[in-house]
This record gives sequence, structure tokens and C-alpha cells, in this order.
Amino acid sequence: MNRAVIIVAAGSGSRMGGELPKQYLKLREKPLIIHTLERFQNFDPEMKVVVVLAPAHRELWEDIAKSYEIAGGLTIVMGGAKRYDSVNNGLSRVDKASLVGIHDAVRPLVSQDTLARCYDAALRKGSGIPVIEMDESVRVLDKEGGSVPMDRSGLRRVQTPQVFRSERIKKAYQQPYKNTFTDDASVYETVYGAPSLVDGNRENIKITTPTDMKLAGLLIDSLE
Ligand code: C5P
Repeated sequence: MNRAVIIVAAGSGSRMGGELPKQYLKLREKPLIIHTLERFQNFDPEMKVVVVLAPAHRELWEDIAKSYEIAGGLTIVMGGAKRYDSVNNGLSRVDKASLVGIHDAVRPLVSQDTLARCYDAALRKGSGIPVIEMDESVRVLDKEGGSVPMDRSGLRRVQTPQVFRSERIKKAYQQPYKNTFTDDASVYETVYGAPSLVDGNRENIKITTPTDMKLAGLLIDSLE
């Protein structure tokens, strides 16, 4: 079955504090989004790649695409106000009867093994969601300012790409947005039931803060 990926990059990245959204910041000489694209192109050079951009960053993207000679073969669509809208716009360009991953542009460290596990689970079971175990204790806060410990053995941290049979995720995304949609799996499961979980990789961090950026640089050095 053909593979596709939607790289969502239409967020403003305001938590990083700078002018430039984090997906365009340079990490070891290359914008973060280029590292992310390369992970997918190395995994499957034939894969359809849809990049979802904010209209305000179109020119910035065109400069980057020219510098890194990556424009050919990509499908570019504009994002929306919410990640949900951006994914929906991306899905409109994905064929039925394919396997589609939905991936945050700000996760440049997804491993080839994680990609294989996610796409394989989606082929066999309809979905493949990468997760990792929690290794710190967690507590749940209450409204009175207190907190209670929670058993972390039953919790998982969820990463991307979240991969699905395209006809299913397209159908799930036809419903109106709800506040309970925290990620793509939470949209999928309202129609198709529990998604299939696979092992992610610990390096696959979501770059959100300047500290994450430093960490990602070190991790990239260790891979290259
Ligand atoms: O905002 P958040 O950290 O959840 O963003 C996760 C990913 O979704 C980022 O890659 C961001 O660019 C993307 N996004 C988007 N459209 C939005 C909001 C976020 O494509 N409206």
C-alpha cells in the first residue's frame, strides 16, 4: 500500500520566544523542518509528502526550499487556526487506500525503526501510534492545591507520527472539532475504537523550548 505523510508546520511556535517559529530555526546548519523531512524521505523515497504551512510563512518556506533543493515532489498546503484544521487541510491531498502518517514538523529525531513500526501497524491494524513509557513519578493535582501520586506503569507518552489507513482518518476528521481531541489518535478512536500502540523512540522529542533545541543538537551529532 502507498505511504504518505503530512508534516504539520503551521503553528506559530510562540513558546520559543523568538520571531521565527521553531520549525524554521537552524539546528546544525539546517532548519529543523529539513531534518524532519529527511527522516521520511530516507525511510521511503517514493512516499507522498504533504507539508502544511502557515500562510504568513510561505515566503520563508520558499527561500528554504530553494536553498535546500527540496521543493520538487512535495505538496504544499496552507494550515488553519488549530492543528485540527491544518491536519484536515493536509488530509484533503492524501489519496484513499494509502497509509498516512501525521507528524509534527518539530520532531526531527524520529527513528527509522519507529517509522517502520508505525506504518506496519497501520497496515495490519488500521493505526500505529508511537508511545514510550514514563520514567518519572507523576502526580495529579486537585482543585484544593494538593496532589495525589499516580501509578505510572499504566501511562504512556504519545509521540508522532501517528499513522492510519487514510480512508479511516479522513472519515474521522469529517466530524466537527471537539476539545477532547488532543491528537490524531483521539480523533480516530471516536469512530474506530482504541488505536494500536507501538514503541516510539526516546530521541523523538517535540522541540518546544530552547533547552529542547540544545538537546536535539546533541542528539543529531550523535546520530551523524
Ligand atoms: O502547537 P503544538 O505544539 O501542538 O504544535 C504541534 C505541531 O502542529 C507543530 O509542528 C505545529 O507547527 C503544528 N500546528 C499546525 N497548525 C496549527 C497549530 C500547530 O500545523 N494551527
